[in-house]
Amino acid sequence: MEIKNLKVLGERAAEILFPRKCPLCLKVLDEAEKMICKDCYKKISFTKEPLCMKCGRPLKSEEEEYCPSCQGYSGKIYFDKGVSLMIHDESAKKLLYDLKYSNIRENAKFLAREFVRKKYKEVLSWKADAIIPVPLHKKRYKKRGFNQSELLANELAKYFKIAVDSANLLRCVDTIPQKELDKSKRKKNIENSFKFLDNIVKYKYAILVDDIFTTGTTINECAKVLKKSGVENVYFITMSIVSE
Ligand SMILES: [Zn+2]
Ligand SMILES: [Zn+2]
Repeated sequence: MEIKNLKVLGERAAEILFPRKCPLCLKVLDEAEKMICKDCYKKISFTKEPLCMKCGRPLKSEEEEYCPSCQGYSGKIYFDKGVSLMIHDESAKKLLYDLKYSNIRENAKFLAREFVRKKYKEVLSWKADAIIPVPLHKKRYKKRGFNQSELLANELAKYFKIAVDSANLLRCVDTIPQKELDKSKRKKNIENSFKFLDNIVKYKYAILVDDIFTTGTTINECAKVLKKSGVENVYFITMSIVSE
């Protein structure tokens, strides 16, 4: 038997022995479903208009342009615009939690594919020359072994054909995880904890990638550093956004 046939046979055997399961309900998927089951797919809350023109959070009415959070943001907003794929509800939480803590990389593939299906045109219009994942501090990276934002950035880059730069934006302070802090302490916690090595690369338009957008302080702090390094426009992509 040819090697190629053996490989196909091996893959078939793996499918039978370890059938692909839905990442949300763990039901075995049928041929047509591929990445997630039909029922769970329907339950995902994908973001849809009207959305805040700045952060992409859902708005209560068509008449508004910006969400209350952007309107009342204490301090300067450095990023130009962002889009998120989903509202941060139970489905989104599970997909991202399993990617981050159980290293289920299929979730990154699924999320990137969905993102591209829904937001491709908008992201292309940004004409970005780099995709930059929000970095982890090197101590945390060593402990986890990977950066979930980098996995997402790599998957997205395959579709957008934009280079991923995960080397030059650094997190130089090992801060307390933002989710453990309330809104007022988040900003102080993350202030001045990023650095961009702008002597190495220069970008005109850059896209930051992170898993979740909550108050936006992390993205904004990264955007601040990029802007100070001369990047003209800073956009962001997050997989889910906490609705107000
Ligand atoms: Zn399911
Ligand atoms: Zn907003």
